[in-house]
Amino acid sequence: MSRFFEPFENINESDGIINFSRDNANHLTVLRHSKGDIITVCDGAGIDYECEIQLISKNDAVVSILRRKKCESEPDFKITLFQALPKSDKMELIIQKSIELGVHKIIPVVTHNTVVRIKNNVNTKIQRYMKISETAAKQCNRGIIPNISSPVEFDTAIHMLAKKEASFVAYENAKLDSGINLMNIEADEIGIFIGPEGGFTAEEVEKCVLSKIKPVSLGKRILRTETAGIAALSTIVYSKEYRYALKKGDM
Ligand code: SAM
Repeated sequence: MSRFFEPFENINESDGIINFSRDNANHLTVLRHSKGDIITVCDGAGIDYECEIQLISKNDAVVSILRRKKCESEPDFKITLFQALPKSDKMELIIQKSIELGVHKIIPVVTHNTVVRIKNNVNTKIQRYMKISETAAKQCNRGIIPNISSPVEFDTAIHMLAKKEASFVAYENAKLDSGINLMNIEADEIGIFIGPEGGFTAEEVEKCVLSKIKPVSLGKRILRTETAGIAALSTIVYSKEYRYALKKGDM
């Protein structure tokens, strides 16, 4: 079922209708939808509306709300990925895969060894990243469009990570069994920090430890920066979602 994100101000629950934005109306026609079709509209805050198309033209559309429900594919916890800026277009892959895996927010970080610097075209870059986020969110039935923030410096990232209920820094020299910490996270506000191609410096890891950000191993092999975030998110999300399901007796 086609999925569209519409801002809350376009959703008129009391009248039971949603007035589509111009872009989405246009996208509806591109997808060859017609009156009577059933589609899903998300408010971007985790609510899905099952809707029927009432009126459709190239530049506007009106749909009626059939039912409203909490988006089932949103995790019950929030993981923020702090990703050291990678080279070339790896960030686009990282964004797409992290969103499929349930990430809540992605914060690009400039560390000692990051080669890339997004200087003058930050806004253009972030707009592109948000487009990738929206496309990935639609494809995997997310209830939100995860936010990709502007890059922050290492010390700012540490400060933000330290405020999370549970924060981890992926470090290839951490003890192998430290990885188990990613499988037993009780907290629901989680931060995971991934280094760049050149890795974190010893001082950076030391600063993480002093800020109570736990170094964790992702296994015996050296993962590429674009693989490490995916590995960490997969471990956290799957173990938490299964434990949630077991607790609720869904399994
Ligand atoms: N120091 C690495 C090397 O010797 O090639 C370079 C860093 S690695 C390519 C990029 C990032 O992925 C690291 O900074 C770390 O955050 C994460 N990473 C890669 N392999 C890992 C592992 N086995 N355990 C934990 N983190 C890992």
